Amino acid sequence: AMSTTRDIPALADAIKSGERRALARAITLVESGRADHRAEALDLLDRLGTDRQALRIGLSGTPGVGKSTFIESFGLMLTGMGKRVAVLAVDPSSARSGGSILGDKTRMDQLSRDPNAFIRPSPSQSQLGGVARRSREAVALCEAAGFDVVLIETVGVGQSETVVAQMADLFVLLLAPAGGDELQGVKRGIMEMADLILVNKADGELKSQATRTCADYAGALRLLRKRPQDPEGFPKALTISALEANGLSAAWDEMQTLADWRKDQGIWAATREAQAGFWFGEDVRHGLLSLLQSDPQMAAAVASAEAQVKAGARTPAAAAAEVLAPLQKRLAANS
Ligand code: GDP
Repeated sequence: AMSTTRDIPALADAIKSGERRALARAITLVESGRADHRAEALDLLDRLGTDRQALRIGLSGTPGVGKSTFIESFGLMLTGMGKRVAVLAVDPSSARSGGSILGDKTRMDQLSRDPNAFIRPSPSQSQLGGVARRSREAVALCEAAGFDVVLIETVGVGQSETVVAQMADLFVLLLAPAGGDELQGVKRGIMEMADLILVNKADGELKSQATRTCADYAGALRLLRKRPQDPEGFPKALTISALEANGLSAAWDEMQTLADWRKDQGIWAATREAQAGFWFGEDVRHGLLSLLQSDPQMAAAVASAEAQVKAGARTPAAAAAEVLAPLQKRLAANS
């Protein structure tokens, strides 16, 4: 359990000097739902600022595609190059089950013992919105701690990718070698988010299949609308073998090419500004909602309106307007 008083300035200093235990404690702090912890977390994040920037890589793929194998070998390659690597997970399934399947240290055995790596599983028992906000703050903490690369892992279930894309500089989609028809199985929206598609398991018997799959995806990517954030030739599809650590340095080269180009073009900074705006909006919306819920009368009105909407007795818009009317009145009275 956390003690009730913490020396936040000292914690900030410890994080900045790269103490992993301080970072771990800080992440626990931002994940806490307690109001006093929240105040301390905000103070801490404020003190740390946003001076240090890591390369934030969002990584998505369905279970079994090889995410943890990839993170292990890619992470070890990076630490071998002298880079410090943090791994965080955004796992919406943990919101339901209360148990995290991502970011599990046992899945990244060597990397978790590497002094230049830091692995943090997804916070559990929270809603996706809550998990996302906390993860975003955890990313900020890792940056303040001086990590060069922050890998943000998520499982491919649609909504979580969108959230991860809002906290990443690059979005990497990991895919498995597939039969011809399976290309259709990747949702177009997710394809459109990818900066790099890595077709994993390009080894042994699966190698030729992986090469074909990769060519298929490269073709599909060429058909997508050109995005302003892409230099010539991006988004790209490559084959890799996470298991045999093949193609990983080529993938890293592409990521750096893309990051450098975006920095040169001012796209990197513009994206981060837009992301900051997005998260500000999320916090305001979330804050308003919890204000509403903190008033017992309002909370009861919201619950009963929701029940009526679900029963088809009222339209969502009318019920929402009615629930907000007292708040509107109060605000009007104050002005
Ligand atoms: P995750 O669920 O996406 O994290 O996938 P895992 O990393 O746990 O990998 C799922 C399975 O695929 C495991 O049995 C891995 O050994 C295997 N696997 C992962 N990467 C590769 C690869 O590059 N080649 C081959 N042949 N198998 C792999």
